[in-house]
Amino acid sequence: MSLKILDTCVNCDVCEPACPNKAISLGEEYYVIDPSLCTECIGHYDQPQCVEVCPVECIIVDPQHTETHEQLELKYHHLMAVAGDAAGAASGASAKDKA
Ligand code: SF4
Ligand code: SF4
Repeated sequence: MSLKILDTCVNCDVCEPACPNKAISLGEEYYVIDPSLCTECIGHYDQPQCVEVCPVECIIVDPQHTETHEQLELKYHHLMAVAGDAAGAASGASAKDKA
């Protein structure tokens, strides 16, 4: 399951840089988590980092986005492959720029 930020969020900005998947961003009124990017930190950490750092405990498991551990691992590998492609494209472009 991805996690979800409740409206008790105080917009302290602490969780956004803690997320290894860049799944957290400032929404219209408070921070939000993109469920397509959240893996519950599986693949990166043993515990969800946003939950670890949030001072007001306003991040919960989102019952609207149920996923098994295996599905979250697959999502993690997919995200890493996409990130690798992006990094490869960027380094390829810079290598070309230098040539
Ligand atoms: S659980 Fe991990 S991946 Fe999901 S939003 Fe929090 S820090 Fe990001
Ligand atoms: S750490 Fe908690 S209170 Fe701070 S911005 Fe994130 S969700 Fe909101």
